Amino acid sequence: MPMIPFMERFPELGARETRSVTVTQRQDLPDGEYGFLEFYCDEPGCDCRRVMIDVLRPETGWRKIWATISYGWESLDFYRKWSGTASDPIEMKGPYLDPLNPQTQYSSALLNLFRFLLESPDYTERLKRHYRMFRETVEEGRHLQHSLKSNCIDDRRKRLGAPKRRRRHSH
Ligand SMILES: [Zn+2]
Repeated sequence: MPMIPFMERFPELGARETRSVTVTQRQDLPDGEYGFLEFYCDEPGCDCRRVMIDVLRPETGWRKIWATISYGWESLDFYRKWSGTASDPIEMKGPYLDPLNPQTQYSSALLNLFRFLLESPDYTERLKRHYRMFRETVEEGRHLQHSLKSNCIDDRRKRLGAPKRRRRHSH
């Protein structure tokens, strides 16, 4: 499942509409600015309706991902129907810390911060709008893509399988 930064396709709008939060005097996070960069799925024909968030800071830029959050805005029913029975709809909806992508000791605090942002309906609407805009660029460019037909959730399940197996072996 290729996840592409929204800002890569919409640099100006992305710069303007990427949420960031400035934190001061919290026990659980260093002071300063945290940006919530959006990634969307680049798989033609896919309808996964989710966003992946990389939390970055101006000081560390792309060199350090402070947390990776996955979130879907549709109902649990949507993810249940969309994925069939194999995936856990609660996990697909999230928000949750993506176990296959970079995390830090601050990840849970940043997940809480993201949950706080989601309490604003404006933010959820913005994510949906960005998803639709991004998906339009994917479907418009579809004829340019070579025939890569793998389903992104299948892909994800395969990726999720590996660490679990490893964990089981280590016990
Ligand atoms: Zn997808």
